[in-house]
Amino acid sequence: MSKLAIDGGTPVRSKPLAAGFHGSSVMDETEINAVTNVLRKKRLFRFLGNEEESEAAKVEAFYKARLGREYALAVNAGTSALICAMYGLNLGPGDEVIVPAHTYVATAAAVIATGAVPVIAEIDNSLNIDPLDTEKKITPYTRAIVPVHMRGIPARMAEVMAIADKHGIPVLEDVAQSNGGSYRGKALGSFGKAAAFSFQQYKIITSGEGGIFLTDDPDVYFRGRMQHDCAVGFWPGVDSNPHEYAVSGENYRISELSAALVLAQCGRLDPLLKTFRAIKKRIVAGIRDIRGLELQDVPDPEGDCGISNVFFAPDTELAQRFAEALKAEGIPCGTIYDNTIPDRHIYSNWAFMTSGKAEERRAPWMSPFYKGDVRDYTREQCPQSLGYLGRAVMMFIDQTFTVQDADQVIEAIRKVAAALL
Ligand SMILES: *Cc1c(COP(=O)(O)O)cnc(C)c1O
Repeated sequence: MSKLAIDGGTPVRSKPLAAGFHGSSVMDETEINAVTNVLRKKRLFRFLGNEEESEAAKVEAFYKARLGREYALAVNAGTSALICAMYGLNLGPGDEVIVPAHTYVATAAAVIATGAVPVIAEIDNSLNIDPLDTEKKITPYTRAIVPVHMRGIPARMAEVMAIADKHGIPVLEDVAQSNGGSYRGKALGSFGKAAAFSFQQYKIITSGEGGIFLTDDPDVYFRGRMQHDCAVGFWPGVDSNPHEYAVSGENYRISELSAALVLAQCGRLDPLLKTFRAIKKRIVAGIRDIRGLELQDVPDPEGDCGISNVFFAPDTELAQRFAEALKAEGIPCGTIYDNTIPDRHIYSNWAFMTSGKAEERRAPWMSPFYKGDVRDYTREQCPQSLGYLGRAVMMFIDQTFTVQDADQVIEAIRKVAAALL
């Protein structure tokens, strides 16, 4: 057995593997031309001139076709896309919305932005929402369930949809981290009543900031569209709103610059996924037989975007030692929950809920409209989730990884496992 780098041995890689971003790690003339063309046209605002020729409308057309959806609205962020979809679903004071314990903070913050109460469900060994706990969290006030497809991994959509349908509750998919993923052959974002995507820089394809929401329901679309722009009914040439809603709205409009940039990146989506998936398949095949190391359960490996690789160590302490040792071998990675780093993807760190400092005038669970039982959030309320997150060692997969890189990842994981497990 060779000596671990952390103990002074020779690292598997002399130069650490560089894990960066996904879509934005390669940007070239395609993106540059897309943006400069908008500057040359001097049309930076979508509701100026022919609406169908706007870059925003072209992004929407791409997503509608890809997901087989009737309506899409590009907006300025993934958080805005979630808020619009939630307004579209008519969520508000008095309502409960079930979100997973492991998701980017925006999923819960968006619920609060509508005035509804976030109800936190446990995650399971997929690190996505646990269907069993989801059903336990349903009350007479539940108005939506938000499964989040974290880090490229599809949530258990068959189970989630069965529960939601049984109780007549709409599903909103948060696809921010799994653009292009699928589940049993169907695109993520095409299961629920609505879906939200993000184009922020950390996501699979990006314009730095941006997002989109989709639905087949005209009520959801037109209500959500009113929330995205308080003046939407006033712009010339905007298709008329067949319904009357008294939604005052805000401003979540996307810039034509961002829309053009993400449209250019849309052409990269499938080639990127192909690259990530091939690397991930190779790594998983190379580590799946390691004793004492449990792989994350991926509900549909074919639909996995392949941007992350996660395995569980037997306990939290071993997971931390494993991650440190792997880093020393030149493989960037980390545990997800280790009690020290406040990760924004874990409910216990969402201070606006769990710090006990919620303001009565702003906290939806203190609203006189709310008749349910969710009053006190605590940092410990989802022990099952904290257990999985504590034992998880995670690394990202970059589009620049080569087959040799993948083989060194395997070699390093096998080396550390042999020494520690
Ligand atoms: C990034 C992200 C969002 C929000 O997207 P922004 O574009 O940053 O507002 C929402 N949900 C999840 C799961 C995310 O990862």
